[in-house]
Formats: sequence, structure tokens, C-alpha cells
Amino acid sequence: MLSNPSLTPPCNKDGKDEVNYVGRFAPSPTGPLHFGSLITAVASYCDARAHRGKWLVRIEDTDIPRIYPGSEDHILRSIDAFQFDPDAEIIFQKDRLNLYEAVIEQLHQQGLVYACQCTRKMLGSNHIYQGTCRNLDLPLEHQAIRVKVDDQEICFTDRLQGTHCCNLQQDLGDFVLKRRDGIINYQLAVVVDDYLQGMTHVVRGADLLDNTERQIWLGQLLGYPKLQYMHLPLAMNDQGQKLSKQNMAQALDLTQAPQLLQQALRALRQPEVDLDRPAQMLQQAIAQWDIALIPHCTELHGHYL
Ligand code: GLU
Repeated sequence: MLSNPSLTPPCNKDGKDEVNYVGRFAPSPTGPLHFGSLITAVASYCDARAHRGKWLVRIEDTDIPRIYPGSEDHILRSIDAFQFDPDAEIIFQKDRLNLYEAVIEQLHQQGLVYACQCTRKMLGSNHIYQGTCRNLDLPLEHQAIRVKVDDQEICFTDRLQGTHCCNLQQDLGDFVLKRRDGIINYQLAVVVDDYLQGMTHVVRGADLLDNTERQIWLGQLLGYPKLQYMHLPLAMNDQGQKLSKQNMAQALDLTQAPQLLQQALRALRQPEVDLDRPAQMLQQAIAQWDIALIPHCTELHGHYL
């Protein structure tokens, strides 16, 4: 068990109004929010609220070199413009680096992580790490930190995408939790924060499906409770590429919030909502929310910009 009290998730003091759904929207500020991000925000919000659950927002900004100037501000303005109503203050991962370091230390004491001095070139063309530094017992400072994986299948059943499995040792090898430049990897930060924030459900884009087994593995090593996953199909542009900053996806135009909200719900194949103030539209969407209508695929083809 963790001894540091700050590494303990929130608990329900009187146990009376137990919440059995806590969900989140966890954007990385690597660019302004685009239509694909809006789909994730809307789906995670409606799904949480339709289950009478809580919904939190977390800014995943540990990868400082990849932060795009102004995008944090655009995320926060978007939350306001679409009238999403988070149940707690928005947290920023860059303010929580000591928590991730404490978890690395805990894993180190358990012999589950080690320092690695291999360069990317040394990994070979298939990028599967062969455990070269596993038994070298290098000092942790100024080296990448990898977590050990086992030769076993990790499987989970996604609420939309069905059952997915991966043998981490055969498909990936021991993976990085902290880079040599000191940056905490997304895989670690996401697992620690989902635990500390008491998350029960993860709703996010299907581009993150392949990360899930790594996160489940880490959660298992740390003794965290299991999560439910729902990976949403990704909005694709006219060229069949997923909307992203690299593909010049347009920033959400916050003056068009009601129209964009209506389009996001249509992309998720939800029943039509009337154009209104975003808060009213979200209420209607929550009342009508039906995940059986969301396409069970990983790509949504349309004219998404
Ligand atoms: N921060 C990740 C992203 O913006 C999402 C993480 C998650 O939902 O688990 O792609």
C-alpha cells in the first residue's frame, strides 16, 4: 500500500450517495481543440451524466516540448463555451510531477522498474525492447526508466470495440515511464491520475486503444482498481486521415458552439437535439444518450474539418 496520503484517491466519507461512475476528458495541449476532441468531450460528458456520474477535466501537459502555445487557453475557453460543467477544479499534470516521481520510486522499491541507457537506434527496426538493461542495475538519475512486463496476454473488453488483447513482452517489451530528459511518460501519468481522481470509466478516441494494455498492466502492478473503457471512432478528414494538429484540423470556432455540438452528436449518431444554448442541448443529449447508436468501428468518415 502507498504510505504517502497524497497518493490516495478520494473516498466517500459517509458512503450514502455513492458515486459509481467517475469519467473524464483529458486533452493534451499539443494544439487547439478540434472537432475530434469535441466528439470525445461530448461523449465522455454525456456518458458520465447519463449514468448520474461525475465528470472531470484534466490537462495532460507533462510533455512540455510538445505544448502548443495558447492551446491550454483554448481548451479552457472551449469548456466554458460548450457549457460543460466539471465536478471539480481542472487539474494540470505539470503541477503533479512529484506524485508521478513518488510512484516511480514505489515501483523501484518493488524491483519493477529500472534505468535504461539504450538509444532509440539500439532498439532495432521492430521497436520491441529486448530488456538489454534489465539486469544492469544502473542508477536511475539521467536515464530513461522502464517498467518490466511479463510474457502474458492482457485482455480487456471495450464497451464499443469488443475484446482486445496484447502480450506486452512479445509485442512491445519493457516500456518507458520516464524519458532520459526527465519527462514523465503519458502512460504513467494517466494511470496515476485516473487512480487518484477515483476514475471508473475512460471514454476516449480509438487512437488510444493500443495504449490500454500498457495502462492496465501498470494499474495491476500498482494494485489500482480496474477501469471500464470505451474507445470512440475517430473523425476522419476528406483525405481519410484522423483529425489532428499535424493534419491541419481546424481549431473549434467557439462562436459556433451550438452548431458544432449538434454536429458532434450527429457524428456519434445520437438522436437529433434542437439548437439552443449549449447547456440545454447537452441536457437533451444526456436524456437521449444511447451508446448502442455509436458506430462500433474505429473511424467515422464524413466531411469533418
Ligand atoms: N491526453 C490524451 C490525448 O489528448 C488523452 C488521454 C486519455 O484520454 O487517456 O490524446
